[in-house]
Amino acid sequence: MYIIEIYKSVQGESSFAGLPCIFVRLAGCNLRCTWCDSEYTFTGGRKMSLNEVMGEVEKLAPVKLVEITGGEPMLQEREVVPLMDELLAHGFQVLIETSGERPLENVPKSVHKIVDVKCPASGEGGSFRLENLDALTKNDELKFVIASREDYVFARDSVLKHGLESRVGEVLFSPAFRKDARPERDPSNCLLDPRELVEWILSDGLNVRLGLQIHKFIWEPMTKGV
Ligand code: SF4
Repeated sequence: MYIIEIYKSVQGESSFAGLPCIFVRLAGCNLRCTWCDSEYTFTGGRKMSLNEVMGEVEKLAPVKLVEITGGEPMLQEREVVPLMDELLAHGFQVLIETSGERPLENVPKSVHKIVDVKCPASGEGGSFRLENLDALTKNDELKFVIASREDYVFARDSVLKHGLESRVGEVLFSPAFRKDARPERDPSNCLLDPRELVEWILSDGLNVRLGLQIHKFIWEPMTKGV
């Protein structure tokens, strides 16, 4: 499989935010989100065997939480599914971050899926494969990255229309970050003020979780490999 980087940090998003985590970042993505902060994953990567990846992950022990991310990791489904199986067999708790554009039915059930449903301002609205809802359980999370009121309305209506609050363990609403973020580690780099997003959530009585990318408040927002 083609790997961009394997490193240890704290998990920045999802209900696992704040926990030490090993990240396995795969190369390649078939989407082009306007606010993407991972464009360096689009090409290249180092070809590594499953055993080589496992060896790199084991070196970062004793952390036992691993996130498979990208890019879009499910573009390398043939290699990444056996990797998830192997990590589980070695006692790791495994997360996968995916856009949900590729089928998810072959992801092992005990892998915790964090599915980033693209909203209109990403330029990739409509890319989420609705059939993937059937592959999600209470073990999984759906995330909406929100840059505008239009995005919020899309996310809110998706939650209500598909009963998402009861289908997955968590629904996350996260303000999008500026692609050209300044070094300041504060909400001025968000495309949508988190306070405004919270006010909308409360006003509509949604049972969703606010998600902030905490790594962008710990390190300068453009820092890679954290
Ligand atoms: S899916 Fe992720 S990696 Fe791909 S363009 Fe969108 S934000 Fe970037």
